[in-house]
Amino acid sequence: MVERDEILMEFNRKRKFGPKPFYPLVEAYKRPDNNMIFIGGPCSYESKSQLMSIAFDVAKCGATHLRSGVFRAGTYPSKHKFGWLDPEMIAEFHNIAKTFQLQNIIELLDYRDEWIFEYADCLQIGARQMQNYTLLKVAAESGKPIFLKRGTNATLDETLGACEWLLSFGAKELCIIERGSVSFLDHCRWEASISMIPAVQALTKIPIIIDASHSTGRRDLVRPMTLAGIAAGADGCLVEVHYDPDNSLSDSEQALMPEEYRNIMEMIKKMIELK
Ligand code: PEP
Ligand code: MN
Repeated sequence: MVERDEILMEFNRKRKFGPKPFYPLVEAYKRPDNNMIFIGGPCSYESKSQLMSIAFDVAKCGATHLRSGVFRAGTYPSKHKFGWLDPEMIAEFHNIAKTFQLQNIIELLDYRDEWIFEYADCLQIGARQMQNYTLLKVAAESGKPIFLKRGTNATLDETLGACEWLLSFGAKELCIIERGSVSFLDHCRWEASISMIPAVQALTKIPIIIDASHSTGRRDLVRPMTLAGIAAGADGCLVEVHYDPDNSLSDSEQALMPEEYRNIMEMIKKMIELK
């Protein structure tokens, strides 16, 4: 018994040693606008015609940003060769987004890849890189708007800590993406924290959007979880869209058809009107 008490005392002693949450820049953050952020597009860039078709559809539905993993970091390496350091593909992605007046988002995977700044409107920091501070520094110094995905193990304070790093490196425009984290549950791929949305908004004006595609990994859960995020006050959503989801090069289990994306976007418009 004494031993148990000692262990508990030790735990409590250690707990006091953790750094206190510290994010003054995050608390003082001012958004340049209050526009909703709607990211749509395929998981991966597959071809020019694939992206033209999807960009056309998502733009028609009201998307503001086009995604298309031209650089991707997944849990496992892909058997397909796609995206890695392919300037031609990135230039095409850039041109297609521009054609449909969408802002493009490119994930910065490596701090040495500054050449992509010529093509990127916005940068994504992937969930697996949230605390890669060298990468955050390079991303922040680019001056581009940054979409930071909450790490797969990251708490609210750690996520805001990563935002604080970005702001301290000079980032001007940020958005957090709630894409779920590890949990003991096994009915979906990751567990999105809906409560993270109002909890973040209670501390900062940095927008936070829901990514129900990556968090659930399940097509049937993307719509309800996206709408749950919006109902909780999310500033927008990220949805993976493909015209042939089952044959999508990556994340085929979660991609939605353009009609399903349209349905979600129409529902969101109604929810916004109700607010
Ligand atoms: C992605 O958005 O392409 C992606 C791989 O997401 P995450 O970093 O959230 O896994
Ligand atoms: Mn994906």
